[in-house]
Amino acid sequence: MLADTPGIPRYVGRSDVNLRSRLRQHAAAEEYRYFYVEHHRSADDAFHRESGLYHHYIHQLDNLVHPGVPRGCRGGCPRCSYGH
Ligand SMILES: [Zn+2]
Repeated sequence: MLADTPGIPRYVGRSDVNLRSRLRQHAAAEEYRYFYVEHHRSADDAFHRESGLYHHYIHQLDNLVHPGVPRGCRGGCPRCSYGH
């Protein structure tokens, strides 16, 4: 998650390949001052967590596109019909 103010997420995302590179892109764009990272054991787990955060914070996020389903994911979003 990325934020302008600590504790107030404005962007929810994930990287299944290279988180460092993704964060560096955001840092270079100087869009947000803070980031919060979680590590998950699989892309499916990360997608489910990202989707939960996306729905929880949707009213305050800058990125309004639903998180993408990782390749080979079993099922879709646990909070809506996306990816089912
Ligand atoms: Zn969803």
